[in-house]
Amino acid sequence: MFNLILFGPPGAGKGTQAVKIAEKYGWVHVSTGDILRSEVSQGTPLGLKVKAVMEAGTLVSDELLIEIMESVFRKNSKAGGFVLDGFPRTLKQAKELEGMLEKLGTKVSLVLSLEVESEELAKRMLKRAQEQGRKDDTEEVIKNRLVQYHQHTKPLIEYYESKNLLKNLMGMGTIEDIFESLCREIPV
Ligand code: AMP
Repeated sequence: MFNLILFGPPGAGKGTQAVKIAEKYGWVHVSTGDILRSEVSQGTPLGLKVKAVMEAGTLVSDELLIEIMESVFRKNSKAGGFVLDGFPRTLKQAKELEGMLEKLGTKVSLVLSLEVESEELAKRMLKRAQEQGRKDDTEEVIKNRLVQYHQHTKPLIEYYESKNLLKNLMGMGTIEDIFESLCREIPV
């Protein structure tokens, strides 16, 4: 089982690339943002709980994310691999992920981190707002999502670096160029 974490700030292109990687290698794409958005749009109890937090661009609690991921792994225990997109986002989530993968007899294989300048990130997210109408792609909320990233998520770079699992890549250029440079790092 190959477990790839696609890491990077909001707007780095993780979602686009994760879909392509999952398709090429036949792995399960897990986007916690997509899972949560679907709960919100269906109006489930979980969706009702997280709606306001997501619209403010703040992180949903670790406990809820861990529950969601445990269920994802339970349902896909026979998968050939996973592309995690948007998880883990805190140190607590990263540590819990290790336990979850251990239960499946596996571990994090590689963390590919997409680096994109902040100005470009904001530009991309505003463009996405126009195209997809994401409620959390407004200027105000984008600012908060970037703050959340720097406060809670960026420290994971050091965490995975210390485990020798991290590879940095430039997330600038065409979708195809970035996809190729990501694939070059995947040793399967
Ligand atoms: P994304 O589509 O990955 O940008 O996620 C959209 C929103 O979902 C985030 O701004 C958070 O509110 C929430 N979210 C997604 N993944 C996580 C996570 N791993 N931990 C906490 N909140 C998350």
